[in-house]
Amino acid sequence: MTEPRTAIVTGAGRGIGAEIAQRLAAEGHRIAVIDLREEDTSATVEAIISAGGEAIGVGADVSDSSAVEAAVARVADELGAPTILVNNAGILRDNLLFKMTDTDWDAVMGVHLRGAFLMSRAVQAHQVEQKWGRIVNLSSTSALGNRGQANYSTAKAGLQGFTKTLAIELGRYGVTANAIAPGFIATDMTRATAERVGVPFEDFLAHAAKEIPVGRTGVPADIAAAAAFFISEEASFVSGQVLYVAGGPKD
Ligand code: NAP
Repeated sequence: MTEPRTAIVTGAGRGIGAEIAQRLAAEGHRIAVIDLREEDTSATVEAIISAGGEAIGVGADVSDSSAVEAAVARVADELGAPTILVNNAGILRDNLLFKMTDTDWDAVMGVHLRGAFLMSRAVQAHQVEQKWGRIVNLSSTSALGNRGQANYSTAKAGLQGFTKTLAIELGRYGVTANAIAPGFIATDMTRATAERVGVPFEDFLAHAAKEIPVGRTGVPADIAAAAAFFISEEASFVSGQVLYVAGGPKD
């Protein structure tokens, strides 16, 4: 039996984050759906509520320290102390190294690394007080290196080190930290990549599927299932791990 907790999922207005939010709500948790703009959270919030769950939408830029502090305080106020955190918000600013601008670099580091740091620092205060917590960070197979993604692959590799350090520091308070490294998942993010390289999304998916041992591309539910496991009560002895969810071996 799952004990209901308060969970924050960042970047949950759409894509993988929206699916994780709905999955955790279905398991009985109260969900704070964080996205850049509050209005972009309404579809996820409404889906949760119409399925009988409890959710609020909060607009916050995860790379902005004061916005993060205010968002976490509001969640604690309206839903109770947040003890589950999924650092999912992400952006792409792909380019080959020689064309990558300072802004492309800083924007990606800001959302993925600074964002996960600020959110985790704010939420751990509640987790330590409650002596229970779960942090799940979204890494990527790109952490192993990917052409055109010097910024993104660095951030996603960095998140793996961040995860292991959180596991070491917070374990004594009943808090686990794990990372999921998805392979190719069909979302707006991969659709945007297909558009950028000028390939119809269906062809892009079919081409990607040929390279994947299980013969298909991933869907957000594949990632939500992995997140649900890390967050479950029974995963309390699993911490500091990176799980590649990519339809085949990766590291
Ligand atoms: P997505 O569809 O682009 O969704 C990302 C969400 O993050 C959007 O709702 C976006 O808001 C939000 N966001 C961006 N910057 C933010 C900020 N500063 N503060 C708060 N929210 C912010 O992406 P996805 O494909 O679901 O990816 C989710 C996570 O999985 C990301 O960390 C991504 O790097 C990782 N991942 C994805 C794949 C894949 O194949 N899709 C593979 C490996 C890893 P806006 O709508 O306002 O932009």
